[in-house]
Amino acid sequence: MKVPEKVKFILDTIESAGARADIVGGPVRDFLLGNEPSDYDITTSARPEEIKRIFSEYRTVDTGIKHGTVSLILDGEQYEITTYRVDGEYKDSRHPESVSFTTRIEDDLSRRDFTVNAMAYSDRHGITDAFGGRGDLDARLIRAVGDPEERFREDALRILRAVRFAAVLGFRIEEKTADAARRCAYLIDNISAERCYTELRKLFGGEYAYPVIERFSDIILRFAVGVDALTLPMRTRFDEASTMTRVLSLFAHLGERASAVFSETMRRLKSPTAPRELGERVLDAVGKYKKDSARLIGRALYALGEDCLRELIRLEILLGTEDSTALSRLDLYLAYGLPYRISDLSIGGSELTSMGIRGRAIGEMLERMLLAVIDGECENNPEALSSFARVN
Ligand code: ATP
Ligand code: MG
Repeated sequence: MKVPEKVKFILDTIESAGARADIVGGPVRDFLLGNEPSDYDITTSARPEEIKRIFSEYRTVDTGIKHGTVSLILDGEQYEITTYRVDGEYKDSRHPESVSFTTRIEDDLSRRDFTVNAMAYSDRHGITDAFGGRGDLDARLIRAVGDPEERFREDALRILRAVRFAAVLGFRIEEKTADAARRCAYLIDNISAERCYTELRKLFGGEYAYPVIERFSDIILRFAVGVDALTLPMRTRFDEASTMTRVLSLFAHLGERASAVFSETMRRLKSPTAPRELGERVLDAVGKYKKDSARLIGRALYALGEDCLRELIRLEILLGTEDSTALSRLDLYLAYGLPYRISDLSIGGSELTSMGIRGRAIGEMLERMLLAVIDGECENNPEALSSFARVN
């Protein structure tokens, strides 16, 4: 495994102080799969105080010191160094009551969720694989470490993580693990909205999301209040769509209720406001705008704005009710700088005022002029617009 220089430095520095250090979890899995790891977590036999002492010349942050995690900042990059630990009893399917540190790396690996996430690696110690992670990686299987039901009862987020990893990696969820996930799915209600949202976002963005969403629709549907069956669009189009468009496509068939159900689902998940509001507007607009000419694109842009119309077209393409020429037409409209906003008009409120128009009539006239320009009934130049204002 090719270990980046800075990570090597961290491992060597800890080892020189007489403790053991390995890369653990995600990066080991990703590396063995031939993927570039996104970050490097380190697991060590050294206690947090010791790590802080070893790296006293560097900046460290006590991110999760109670859980044994010290973050080390090297050249602006953050590395999490966590002491081997085992989790105490879980009372609420969420948080262990306590954690205790141990000196055996195998104990630390045993608290991890899935076998493919329970491997460690360092140049010195090679791969430490106490639970058959390597074999499951080759067999492309997500398998809980230990008894799956027990592990899901400890922390129900692991159920969503299993589905997420299946969607991202294209792995199958091993049978006992999948059965337990279904039996324990009701425990997901105990998990914080933010943690669920993060997992769901990754899940829906996964390259293999479609078959996984289909197979675990009962789990996915727990989040959509008032939807009792999943209606998936065509797979080839779904695979090509962005995360946002994929999510919206699952609500679109609800018709009049789509926007409200989506909104409620996103609010419960504590989604950021911007994507929720965009999605609401898009779902409200499905099927309501024709886009077969520049004029109609202009009208739709005027009503919805660029972001909303673009996402609407993408969604309708995914649903099979629109084709990609609508997107080309939108791009062309924007590339030519054709008008669709009041500010695109070549005269403004002050010119209308000087023509004797007052108060609310100004805004109304600007809107009428804009629509006339979009419809090709009036040219967008000061003379044409002034005479339009005079006769209308
Ligand atoms: P990603 O590519 O999304 O970062 P990851 O496997 O690194 O995937 P993280 O959430 O970063 O996922 O977690 C790091 C490691 O911590 C995991 O590989 C796993 O070993 C362990 N882990 C994370 N969450 C849990 C959990 N809920 N229960 C048990 N172990 C967990
Ligand atoms: Mg990670």
